[in-house]
Amino acid sequence: MNEDWKFERRRSRLVEELREKGIVNERVLAAIGRVPRHHFVDQAFHLRAYNDEALPIGLKQTISQPFTVAFQSQTLAPQRDERILEIGTGSGYQAAVLCEMGARVFSVERMRALFDRTRPLLKSLGYRVNTLFGDGMDGWGSMAPFDGIIVTAGAKEVPDLLRRQLKLPEGMKSGGRMIIPVGPGEEQIMTLVVRLGEDSFESVELDAFRFVPLLGNTVG
Ligand code: SAH
Repeated sequence: MNEDWKFERRRSRLVEELREKGIVNERVLAAIGRVPRHHFVDQAFHLRAYNDEALPIGLKQTISQPFTVAFQSQTLAPQRDERILEIGTGSGYQAAVLCEMGARVFSVERMRALFDRTRPLLKSLGYRVNTLFGDGMDGWGSMAPFDGIIVTAGAKEVPDLLRRQLKLPEGMKSGGRMIIPVGPGEEQIMTLVVRLGEDSFESVELDAFRFVPLLGNTVG
């Protein structure tokens, strides 16, 4: 039996919960209301897929908590057809949310096993994400520049190569922006970096979050 209606009800409750927690961007809420998060976790976690919690996806990695996905998406605020680079494809859930918002999504993952699992999953759900197996610390040079970059693992500092793949400001249009959790320890400060010029960046520190670490090199 098709049980998607059960998940639909849970999903709209999650959207209400995120609204209560302070998410105001209607495009973000609508996107979360559409993405079937249960397909991005193991069957064993289906009943928890619409709780506002991070869940394991294997290999010591997690699918981010919906609030975190909503917060990052809201801060990034991708407009239709903007080019967005995600570092850390993981389960593919965040990439799917960005697709639902109309962005052109590019996503890099360093673990072969996750890359091999998520790429066909996104395709089968109809999400057109350009995926790359590689070290996201290097960004995706051949696809740069980007209107936005979203890093979904905790970085010790902002990788210079990444911020250099943000678009330069042009006329009335401001430069590219990056949302990245930064911090040396287990907790990171969500940071918004905006490109102001060739060598000039502005950064604004937002709230504290906990992410799995951004690590260099590829695995597998
Ligand atoms: N956006 C994901 C979050 C997954 S957790 C989701 O929605 O499910 C973070 C992911 O970042 C993990 O899959 C981890 O393997 C990956 N990661 C960590 N360091 C990386 C790097 N340097 N390059 C690419 N991916 C990286």
